[in-house]
Amino acid sequence: MRTVGNRLGTKAPSRLTPPPKVRDDHYGRPEHKAWAKAVIKRAGGCCQDCGATGKRLFADHIVELKDGGAKYDVDNGKALCGSCHVSKGYRARAAR
Ligand SMILES: [Zn+2]
Repeated sequence: MRTVGNRLGTKAPSRLTPPPKVRDDHYGRPEHKAWAKAVIKRAGGCCQDCGATGKRLFADHIVELKDGGAKYDVDNGKALCGSCHVSKGYRARAAR
């Protein structure tokens, strides 16, 4: 009996390997975690864009940090569900 082990074990050619993802230090900081927790708590379990409940929420900077938004100001935060968070990111990048 053959297994898929050998076929899946081959490594992708290096030209297909994406460059290492550089994570902004900011996101690992306790100040960021406290900000995100406060933003999500304030939302009361609802996505602040589409109103969905029962979904995982992400704290989003209304004015993105790249656009000069305040990092730890709860008023610059919005709790968004995954799909709203992704589409907001696309819109912000497109607008830049
Ligand atoms: Zn949403």
